[in-house]
Amino acid sequence: MNLILLGPPGAGKGTQAKRLADKYNIIQLSTGEMLRAAVKEGSEIGRKAKAAMDAGGLVSDEIVIGIIADRIDQPDCANGYILDGFPRTLAQAAALETLLAEKKREINAVINIKVDDDAMIERISGRYACAKCGAGYHDVYLKPAKAGVCDTCAGTEFTRRADDNPETVRSRLMAYYRETAPLIGFYFAKGKLRNVDGMATIDQVTREIEGVLAKI
Ligand code: ADP
Ligand code: ADP
Ligand code: ZN
Repeated sequence: MNLILLGPPGAGKGTQAKRLADKYNIIQLSTGEMLRAAVKEGSEIGRKAKAAMDAGGLVSDEIVIGIIADRIDQPDCANGYILDGFPRTLAQAAALETLLAEKKREINAVINIKVDDDAMIERISGRYACAKCGAGYHDVYLKPAKAGVCDTCAGTEFTRRADDNPETVRSRLMAYYRETAPLIGFYFAKGKLRNVDGMATIDQVTREIEGVLAKI
């Protein structure tokens, strides 16, 4: 099963992708996570991507398409994957169509996580993650069971993304509305779009997505 998770920054794509990957035994492919790893490593891709990421803009189509083309060819993707944060432009969506057609594969569903504009800002401002295992949390909506201790790995250090600040969030929302929102129409026209209510609790959103996937 190959899925796309669509939605604005902070919609809950990463949170849901991790859960779905575990449940359906498929791989989560987050271009954001891959790009952050490249920046940290200081690789050529990382050096090229950094300025756009810091400013809350989009990294070039060429770079992210290259990353995804290599990644979906790896053996661990044979059982399927969830694209989280890709495609983000119509050009990326078209490139993905071409890549999949060459392999005689297809996207089974595009899950569009719908959230109110105000909620995105709130979710992004409260987002943090375990520094050791990457488990995601939120100051208000998803606190670890024991304050300051990661539920998953018992780590006690946490990080916040450099781009999760109020100035950059505005640019990221603008990039979403200009470049990514048209993909909703693109996938609707292809008959692949499935909307879920991203304003529900994390567990409810997971259940709604599972209900959608049970029908495809
Ligand atoms: P995205 O990958 O779409 O940018 P994340 O999955 O990182 O979004 O979620 C953004 C923040 O909002 C995280 O801190 C996460 O814990 C929290 N969050 C995710 N889904 C929900 C939800 N349905 N209700 C409340 N908070 C949520
Ligand atoms: P969000 O939580 O805002 O959805 P991501 O972790 O998906 O953030 O992405 C972080 C940043 O990485 C984006 O603001 C953008 O600069 C870059 N990025 C990630 N995926 C893509 C993509 N498919 N195309 C262009 N830029 C991307
Ligand atoms: Zn952890």
